Amino acid sequence: MSATYKTDFAFLKQQFDLPEGMIYLDGNSLGPLPKATSQRVKSCVEQEWGQELIRAWNTAGWMAMPTRLGDRIARMVGAEQGCITTGDTLSIKVYQALASGLELRPDRRVVLSDSGNFPSDLYMAQGLLRSLGPGYELRVVEPEAVAEALTDDVAVLMLTQVDYRSGRLHDMAALSEQARSVGAVTLWDLAHTAGAYPVRLAECQADFAVGCSYKFLNGGPGAPAFIYVRPGLQDQVRPALSGWLGHEAPFAFDLDYRAGQGIERMRVGTPPILQMAALDASMDLWDQVDMDDLRQRSIELSELFITEVEQRCPALTLASPRAPEDRGSQVSFAFKDGYAAMQALIARQVIGDFRAPDIMRFGITPLYLDEADIIEAAKRLEIVMGEKEWQRPEFQVRAAVT
Ligand SMILES: *Cc1c(COP(=O)(O)O)cnc(C)c1O
Repeated sequence: MSATYKTDFAFLKQQFDLPEGMIYLDGNSLGPLPKATSQRVKSCVEQEWGQELIRAWNTAGWMAMPTRLGDRIARMVGAEQGCITTGDTLSIKVYQALASGLELRPDRRVVLSDSGNFPSDLYMAQGLLRSLGPGYELRVVEPEAVAEALTDDVAVLMLTQVDYRSGRLHDMAALSEQARSVGAVTLWDLAHTAGAYPVRLAECQADFAVGCSYKFLNGGPGAPAFIYVRPGLQDQVRPALSGWLGHEAPFAFDLDYRAGQGIERMRVGTPPILQMAALDASMDLWDQVDMDDLRQRSIELSELFITEVEQRCPALTLASPRAPEDRGSQVSFAFKDGYAAMQALIARQVIGDFRAPDIMRFGITPLYLDEADIIEAAKRLEIVMGEKEWQRPEFQVRAAVT
């Protein structure tokens, strides 16, 4: 190891349950299972739900859990305490943040985003703008053209910090500052940066941010999303999804909505407690991770992976930025038969994924990957490519989830 770290990565690697012989390069899509999670979920089911029943909303702290988890995520994304709450799915949180952001600029009608954004974010924006009526526009430009397109008619700049296909990283500080200078509200999607990169929301004065916890955060399938609202805005924003748990006094059962205090107003309905228990267990591991160490280690492993793959697999073309400072924590290679090649690689127990049209995507996650894994993965990929294993018919059949 070339650098010294405060974080004990070797110890953390032992805290995950991965199948013997498998190298998991898909933690950017669904993080693996931490060993402690099963027990934590089991005790939530058997003790809290089973024994406490409805009393657990108070006795086990269930009602406070969404915002307590938000406070645990805060350090990882450079947010202040009391500015993040969790629940729902990321698509819902995108809608909620965008609706609130648009209301802060009633004189403007343009949402600016880029073609590298994840489609669900764009779809949610399209749906919302349609509901708002005529005159609204979703302006989608190439990622490199965002700064130029950020003009003073933009109400909300809505970007995903890291491109899910290429791993390209936007400059949050610079774009947020430029947005402020033209009076646009910022909405950052951290799906591929929370738990992957030292995000600095407060420092960048981002207005809104959203993210999910089943990718790098290892909260498990269906884990809750999170939403951040800058402290100065919290008491101004009107939650478009005005559910009872975002109400000032949910148990007063008033007939009219009054927004709750601070970030609590961004809650909607009953939180998914079992999923939150799983995320809580994963956060015990994240508490032991220094985010700057994580970034350094991610770069080290990513650079090694690129070097190894380029040497061993000349048919693959790097589809991520070559400079590490322009990348998140994933590496992509383009290959015409990428889907089949990925299937062949998965058959060799190296799990990555495929994104149309031709991207083989590999998540580089320092919590449970080390140099030996990276080199072994590249060796198995070399066999897949060298032996042209991707030509086999069984690897050509597309599954529903790629
Ligand atoms: C993964 C991802 C989503 C998925 O949204 P869900 O509602 O959790 O299914 C949305 N946006 C981005 C940018 C993503 O990377």
